[in-house]
Amino acid sequence: APFVIGIDGPSGSGKSSVSRAVAARLGAGYLDTGAMYRALTWWCRHTEVDLGDADAIVAAALGLPLEIGDDPQAPTVAVDGIDVAAAIRTSEISSLVSTVATVPEVRVEMQLRQRALIDDFAVRHGACVAEGRDVTTVIAPDAQVRILLTASEEARLRRRSLEVHGATDEAAIAATRDQVVRRDRDDSTVSQFTEAAEGVTVVDTSDLDFEASVAAVMD
Ligand code: C5P
Repeated sequence: APFVIGIDGPSGSGKSSVSRAVAARLGAGYLDTGAMYRALTWWCRHTEVDLGDADAIVAAALGLPLEIGDDPQAPTVAVDGIDVAAAIRTSEISSLVSTVATVPEVRVEMQLRQRALIDDFAVRHGACVAEGRDVTTVIAPDAQVRILLTASEEARLRRRSLEVHGATDEAAIAATRDQVVRRDRDDSTVSQFTEAAEGVTVVDTSDLDFEASVAAVMD
């Protein structure tokens, strides 16, 4: 069977950068499942889908013309031939993505696509690192390696603040807190990180820098 490494965690846990580094080191393919929900959210905006209309969001998900790359060093995301790698990272998309991601039929469609992509990438590269919120529990519960990356709220806020605002002063942390706490709450129906599922290894990165976090996952 193809070798699959699932990594879940909340925002600011270091999930994306660590997952990419691990995939690069292993020569594995890489799938960012969150990028797919972000791409769908971008597509809904682009095609003027009413985000209050769950049926319309489901229709958009079923027809989403998504192409996603498998290279951890240059992850590509295109929708309908348009490169959206940068556009899906805006604060507008971040603030809307939970609305789209919490529609149950949207999740079913995305999970089907994610399983197929993980299989495809794993076969192509011998292994695949997939990261997200429900990889270890729903998408790939049979993965050979399953990890939950966690970090204290303080550490997560510091990282996110640096990433989004380029600063970690009090005002930047406060602005980040509003966003992160709200998105975690909005996502709470799809992911709860208070406890790891059975068989999932917890890696707490609160006191680890990037290199040490990568080393911990490699171990
Ligand atoms: O990982 P990232 O922060 O880019 O994920 C963006 C959003 O996509 C999350 O806030 C969540 O709403 C959704 N998501 C999800 N299931 C996943 C990955 C992401 O619902 N496996």
